[in-house]
Amino acid sequence: MSDAIRAAADALRRGELVAFPTETVYGLGAHALDVDAVTKIFEAKGRPRFDPLIVHVPNLDAARALFAEPPAALDRLAAEFWPGPLTVVAKKVAAIPDRVTAGHDTVAVRVPAHPMAKALLEAAGVPVAAPSANPFGAVSPTRAEHVVAQLGDRVSMVLDGGPCEVGVESTIVALDPPTLLRPGGIALESLERVLGAVAVPGAEEYTTASPGRLSKHYATATPLYLDPAEAPEGGRRGLLAFEQVSDGYDVVEVLSPSGDLAEAAQRLFAAMRRLDALDLDVLVAEPVPEVGLGRAIMDRLRRAAARRAG
Ligand code: AMP
Ligand code: MG
Repeated sequence: MSDAIRAAADALRRGELVAFPTETVYGLGAHALDVDAVTKIFEAKGRPRFDPLIVHVPNLDAARALFAEPPAALDRLAAEFWPGPLTVVAKKVAAIPDRVTAGHDTVAVRVPAHPMAKALLEAAGVPVAAPSANPFGAVSPTRAEHVVAQLGDRVSMVLDGGPCEVGVESTIVALDPPTLLRPGGIALESLERVLGAVAVPGAEEYTTASPGRLSKHYATATPLYLDPAEAPEGGRRGLLAFEQVSDGYDVVEVLSPSGDLAEAAQRLFAAMRRLDALDLDVLVAEPVPEVGLGRAIMDRLRRAAARRAG
């Protein structure tokens, strides 16, 4: 094990904040059973306390230990998707503080696949609560330098594991009955192959079923529009394109020239950040097909384009 991972694991056990790579986005981690440590996450991010955190563990056994009654489908889901970008929500054990779950009697649990995350969780030996390592409402970090730029002074350490391979957050599923709480790195189609039909709540229902899913999120400082007809005219304009460059923009970022939605997801947040850094007047994001990882991409873009908070 590297010295950096050992030092990061020690810092977590002491109740400090550590930013670390996962395959989805960089996480801002704290000892999940230590209320003071978890409170530091909310303070560092400016995250409202009603927005519960996902708890990260190194393997299925550690996950099972956090659920009061492990759901019947847990083993099948784990065999198919763990380690990986799937988060499972079910009744929690009493040891998990209310601060983590925002007072809910359920907990969200994930086993990440990134080798550095796995090594860190094994070395820490405690469950680690970790939301994305960005100020609340901002674009999620997919590189260590994104974390350093926005939260570097708020954490004890930032582990650098290179660019995130999935690039969007985990898919969140509740069971009994199977319900999609957030589209993410595991496609709904793949989930349904294991679970059968999965209910997909409408945008409004999300807010109660999945607290913290505010409409305004992943926001760039430059106003972003999904419909160019709604964007104000003139000024310097940037386009976040799916497959190809279009005329009429000063800058264009193409997410995937081959039209691959997984590649587009991987590149999404970094491209949003690059466009946002150019001090443009308007950003337009092209819609992508809402299949596979396209659902997660469109979910993030709709929230980035939302004009109001809440
Ligand atoms: P993240 O923003 O990636 O840290 O993911 C946290 C999100 O997971 C929250 O905003 C909720 O939408 C969801 N979540 C976490 N815990 C629960 C829970 N117990 N019940 C329902 N959704 C949850
Ligand atoms: Mg986040």
